[in-house]
Amino acid sequence: MHYDILIIGSGPAGFTAAIYASRAGLKTAVFEGLQPGGQLTITTEVENYPGFEHGIMGPEMMDVFRKQAQRFGTQTIFEKIESVSFNARPFVCVSDRGTQYSADAVIIATGASAKLLGAKGEDEYMGYGISACATCDGFFFRNQHVYVIGGGDTAMEEANYLTRFASKVTLLHRSENFRASKIMLERAKSNEKIEFMMNTAVEEFKGELLPSGLRKLTHLVLRNTVTNELTTHSADGAFVAIGHQPNTALFNGLLTMDSTGYIITDSKSTYTNIEGVFACGDAQDSVYRQAITAAGSGCMAAIDAERWLELTRHTAHSEQHS
Ligand code: NDP
Repeated sequence: MHYDILIIGSGPAGFTAAIYASRAGLKTAVFEGLQPGGQLTITTEVENYPGFEHGIMGPEMMDVFRKQAQRFGTQTIFEKIESVSFNARPFVCVSDRGTQYSADAVIIATGASAKLLGAKGEDEYMGYGISACATCDGFFFRNQHVYVIGGGDTAMEEANYLTRFASKVTLLHRSENFRASKIMLERAKSNEKIEFMMNTAVEEFKGELLPSGLRKLTHLVLRNTVTNELTTHSADGAFVAIGHQPNTALFNGLLTMDSTGYIITDSKSTYTNIEGVFACGDAQDSVYRQAITAAGSGCMAAIDAERWLELTRHTAHSEQHS
């Protein structure tokens, strides 16, 4: 199947690019990937996206984005791209179903994913008491004591959200300096269900095997980052909320990236080092990482791709007729 533009990723960046590209009359498809709608589908209320005076729930917002793109003819494909060939045009993308798609231009909007601590026991108890998404899993911790790890806005948001279910939330942060915005920090501090433990890191996640054969987190071994003292605490749940990493491994060795994997785009545009491949959203933005900035850069990518296609097609047409 051939398209004018293939968009890899279905968050605010991908769908905004799709709205612009399909509205410009270009045959456009969006690959939704493993997390259709992207990170906003695992967040709670989005309060800071202009146009929604009273806020909107993340999943609902992404549904609106998707429908708006579809209204202009965007095709949404619920597959994950597993390999790309960018060395010749048309570009080729192969999905997890083994289907090949080709396109004259590709927009990368693969976003970012939650980072994990790498502490002992984290892999073992992930999904068995450890989570990286309060919205997805908070419900399972009704009247229980849970921990949130991190000191940014994500940690504050998760901690606040979890107080809807948990009897107590302990927020662990490895220093005394918070990256969280003042308003979100104050909101968490004024929530009487949230207790703060500063200068504290998780050394190990411990648990037990239940008679059912399932594992379950039961304790955290915590390290005081000033004294190095280790203490063990009982825990029903732990939410890792320490930021995100860009989902760009698919493009390793193909696209120029910084040391942490963010795709480098040219100056103020969305051009990557490969002509005809554009990048937008959190996959190329390590600084702002907001839904609104992702959407803005998705719009830029579609405009860049549209102009580039027009230019290359015009050049090819002129060469044929000269
Ligand atoms: P941040 O990078 O802002 O914060 C990450 C936090 O995790 C820091 O406190 C950091 O500690 C800590 N951390 C990182 N690695 C480790 C580790 N290995 N062990 C222990 N702690 C660690 O990420 P966020 O995801 O919180 O926020 C990202 C962006 O998204 C921000 O711009 C934020 O404003 C925005 N955001 C906005 C929201 C909203 O407005 N509703 C909600 C959520 C996010 P240290 O400081 O010591 O490095």
